[in-house]
Amino acid sequence: MNANILYIEDNEQNLYLVTFILKARGYGVLQAREGHDGIEMALRHKPDLILLDIQLPGMDGYAVARNLRSHPETTQTPILALTSYAMAGDREKAFEAGCTGYIVKPINPDTFLEEVEQHISKRRLPDGGAT
Ligand code: MN
Repeated sequence: MNANILYIEDNEQNLYLVTFILKARGYGVLQAREGHDGIEMALRHKPDLILLDIQLPGMDGYAVARNLRSHPETTQTPILALTSYAMAGDREKAFEAGCTGYIVKPINPDTFLEEVEQHISKRRLPDGGAT
């Protein structure tokens, strides 16, 4: 079975685009539109990777990442921060909060999958990770 990816994002256009790209590649995609739902879904479904928007209503992505890292179920799950913030220091803040990677929006559809797949276990990739 291919990897399942949880995407926590409040912007409908980004949700649509990223979900489309991931599903076309064969991934299962779970969606959450705010942090509390995202944490609940992560704990319940234990996705193989979490894509996390930083600018969310209410609880921001940094708080979501810190919370996820406090639960045994998600302490090891790869978390990729997705943010349009271009300010210096955001990358460091994302890593400090527990994120394992960082993708800048708007996403580049040509390189997005490659960036995501660097953080997914080879045996969970759609092509079986054959070398
Ligand atoms: Mn947002």
